[in-house]
Amino acid sequence: MSLPSGPAPAPRVDTSPKVADEVKCTTCYMCACRCGIRVHLQGDKVRYIEGNPDHPINRGVLCAKGSAGIMQHTSPARLRKPLLRVGERGAGEFREIEWDEALEVATGWLGETRRTDPSRLAFFTGRDQSQSMTGWWAKQYGTLNYAAHGGFCSVNMAAAGLYTIGGSFWEFGEPDWDHTRYLLLFGVAEDHDSNPIKMGLGRLKTRGDAKFVSINPTRTGYSAIADEWIGIRPGTDGLFVGALIHELLRAEQIDWDYLARYTNAPWLVIQAPGDAQDGRFARTADGDPLCYDGKRQALRRASDADASPRLVGACDLPSGHRAVPAFQLLAARFLNRRYAPETVAAATGIPATQIRRIAAEIAEAAFRQQIELDIPWTDWAGRRHDKMIGRPVSMHAMRGISAHSNGFHTCRMIHMLQMLLGTIDVPGGFRYKPPFPRPCPPGPKPSGPAAGPDTPLDGMPLGFPTGPEDLLVTADGTPQRLDKAFSWEYPLAAHGMMQMVIRNAWAGDPYPIDVLFLYMANMGWNSAMNVPETLRYLTDKNEDGSYRIPKIIYSDAYYSETVPYADLVLPDTTYLERWDCISLLDRPICSAEGPADSIRHPVVKPDRDVRPFQDVLIELGARLQLPGFAKEDGSPAYPGGYPDYMANHERAPGIGPLAGWRGDGTSHGRGAPNPDQLQRYIDNGSFWQHHLPPEQTYYKHANGPYLTYAQKMGWIPNADQIVMQLYAEPLQKFRLAARGHGDRQPPEALRARIERYFDPLPIWYPPFEEDSFAGTDFPLHAVTQRPMHMYHSWGGQNAWLRQITARNRLFVHANTAATLGLVDDDWVWVISPYGRVKGQIKLMHGVNPNTVWTWNAIGKRKGTWGLDNDAPEATKGFLLNHIISELLPARADGYRYANADPVTGQAAWYDLRVRLEKCATADAGETAPRFAALPPMPGRTAPPVLRYGADFDRRPVGTSSDDHLEWVGNRRENAATGSGVRPGHGNRTDISTK
Ligand code: SF4
Repeated sequence: MSLPSGPAPAPRVDTSPKVADEVKCTTCYMCACRCGIRVHLQGDKVRYIEGNPDHPINRGVLCAKGSAGIMQHTSPARLRKPLLRVGERGAGEFREIEWDEALEVATGWLGETRRTDPSRLAFFTGRDQSQSMTGWWAKQYGTLNYAAHGGFCSVNMAAAGLYTIGGSFWEFGEPDWDHTRYLLLFGVAEDHDSNPIKMGLGRLKTRGDAKFVSINPTRTGYSAIADEWIGIRPGTDGLFVGALIHELLRAEQIDWDYLARYTNAPWLVIQAPGDAQDGRFARTADGDPLCYDGKRQALRRASDADASPRLVGACDLPSGHRAVPAFQLLAARFLNRRYAPETVAAATGIPATQIRRIAAEIAEAAFRQQIELDIPWTDWAGRRHDKMIGRPVSMHAMRGISAHSNGFHTCRMIHMLQMLLGTIDVPGGFRYKPPFPRPCPPGPKPSGPAAGPDTPLDGMPLGFPTGPEDLLVTADGTPQRLDKAFSWEYPLAAHGMMQMVIRNAWAGDPYPIDVLFLYMANMGWNSAMNVPETLRYLTDKNEDGSYRIPKIIYSDAYYSETVPYADLVLPDTTYLERWDCISLLDRPICSAEGPADSIRHPVVKPDRDVRPFQDVLIELGARLQLPGFAKEDGSPAYPGGYPDYMANHERAPGIGPLAGWRGDGTSHGRGAPNPDQLQRYIDNGSFWQHHLPPEQTYYKHANGPYLTYAQKMGWIPNADQIVMQLYAEPLQKFRLAARGHGDRQPPEALRARIERYFDPLPIWYPPFEEDSFAGTDFPLHAVTQRPMHMYHSWGGQNAWLRQITARNRLFVHANTAATLGLVDDDWVWVISPYGRVKGQIKLMHGVNPNTVWTWNAIGKRKGTWGLDNDAPEATKGFLLNHIISELLPARADGYRYANADPVTGQAAWYDLRVRLEKCATADAGETAPRFAALPPMPGRTAPPVLRYGADFDRRPVGTSSDDHLEWVGNRRENAATGSGVRPGHGNRTDISTK
């Protein structure tokens, strides 16, 4: 008898079966993260998308959105051909036209406007990733009315960071995931920086020696795996952070050395109330800020490397003024009882004991768990340091902070906390991603006014004012831009104010326009505040029957809610059919370890008569004979379209859209255009990356070799140390103007506003809506977030992603619901001061009790996005946008400001206040308001059911040995036994478009 020989060997499973004829590497565009993807192709069809394991952003990780790119690419909502409106605007009645006619019409409209007044073109793009090119086009056209969607997304985050630390959270910096011991994540929804944050949190949680604290009104996504969730009341983060600062200052748990070396904490601030120099820095005759050297008992240049600056204590200046270090002013502010934990507890909903404990934990991590890396480095002054020493507390913040009318100052306050702890670009802290940090305050200035007919601007339309002299206003203070960015109302509107464009164009406020040109921005729906009014603005007419917004050109890839409101539609491609440039001039894919950029290239050919928008823009530029787009002889400068531009355009000598393989292919950053450059990118997986040597990877703001490298790359004008700005002098310059100093002062009605909000130190004030409706019947905050598996309105039409979420609910805390007499699944009216919208509720406990929330951009208008009219997105999905006003209540004289941050013009989406009322039984079941169904997309032929992938099984039916297998979901199984899964067979989706 033979003995058993042990367990049978495990069957070999092929985990990566060959599923395609060919694999092409490009860059995902299912959200803004720009992960690398490998697209498996069978014949001319996409069979499968996987993450590129070599790619610096995602290292092979792919999210649900990324893998569902196939459904984006095959969406029945894809536009098929250029369209010219034939019916009334908004009726969706179009004639399909050829590209020649489309380009002729566009050139005619744009050319006529440019010949008369280029400012009467408003050119606004959405979440596209080619803003360095579109902005340059606007500059060459000559209109200052250009911006992308940052004004309603995250400009508070960007501006506060750039004016404070020369960098920003957003996607321009990251926690030191490998070394941090304490991570504070403020208001970050799970869609933001999606794969990088997920991967980082995975690393951090796996290490087991770090604590992750999420401060967010809702406990979803990232917050759900936090070690501690702080369900803060929306709009009060500044109070919470202020209280942490209060506690750390009180306990002197701050990094004095870091403040003295790397920030303007020691810079002397003149104290002379009533004087034009009050609140300005004391400077040398040649403009260098001064500090007081405690060792030498004398004034010194703050930039002197051997200075021993004092951080407290007044001194006298040769001018006769008194001055104190900036730090002293900051300490006085935050040691005030106004920021004591007990004072802020009720407003934030966070008990004082918890605030104190968090402050103590932060101090413990920062000062008792110091990190030392054995990496010698050299600072800007040539001093050698043996080690890199860091305080391992990191922070990251995003839209939950940004989208409030107090977001700029709140974000600045978070940066204060980082500086006080000494945790910026040190081991374990927050790290800059090149090309940041940049000089602080930032440059360049916004360009304007328009130079006149047929003339380019002398600079880019967007920029960074550093004082009243940089505002775009006329002599009487009237805004020069249509959106009123860079005016006295919103002086630091660095990303423009896209949310105001349609309203102001309709109102002719401050002036009417001729052409509204939009790209990839669903401004007739989920990218609009106040959708009902926005649709009226788009369709309203003058007495003579002409439209108040005379001409609208729109380019997008899909039949969105905005398309029917255009006069001319230029259909774009999907991201798998196009060239794109993720450029260091724009929003690159760098990491803290070094610069990187990437491309998209067409991996499949369009099967429709569509063209990439960037190609179209380049051709329009040539037809319009814009300088740079047409040669002197009138021929196109980039006859090869966008790839031609990507390889050959030079923004400055040797600096082009792509940094890799320049010149003869051996240099990067600077170098002549290289005809092989794009092929080198393709050969390298569609990205380029440079690894900084270890000694350059931290302290980038003061790291000599890094600063020299950054200068060589053209990112910074010189290799001087970048000094972080605890105290923001540019804000004080606006304040002084409001107090009557200088030759450029705000109109009388705006002086108090500037005085209040242009505080050079961070402040907290209640969000405007909360202030406006205090004591009224709108007790709840209402916020939205994008789900991890969707991105704007794109995701909500994707056949695979719809299987995860095809409708949204309003999430309500169970206790709050109980007090309102609501139970799970009730239908309610969500009522704001401006209107009401109907939705179905879902109870939960992981939400601030004063807050209700929902997923954004799930709700769709009937007839759009290739969905059936009874699709749940159109019948049950809802948008809070319908009840958010783009304007604040009128001030005393009737004027209405934008519902926005008064410093940056950031749209204050999250300031919304509401109450809930249970629907009458007869009203339950469907959302409201519902707008008239739009007619189906012209030329739409897609069947109502999508079937994808079954045809990839090449064996003819009836000849295969697995004929007994049936499709079950996306697998083939023996229906009788449930076994028989066939790996390697194509996915199949069998979902109705309902
Ligand atoms: S995180 Fe964004 S870019 Fe990355 S795979 Fe997902 S959708 Fe694509």
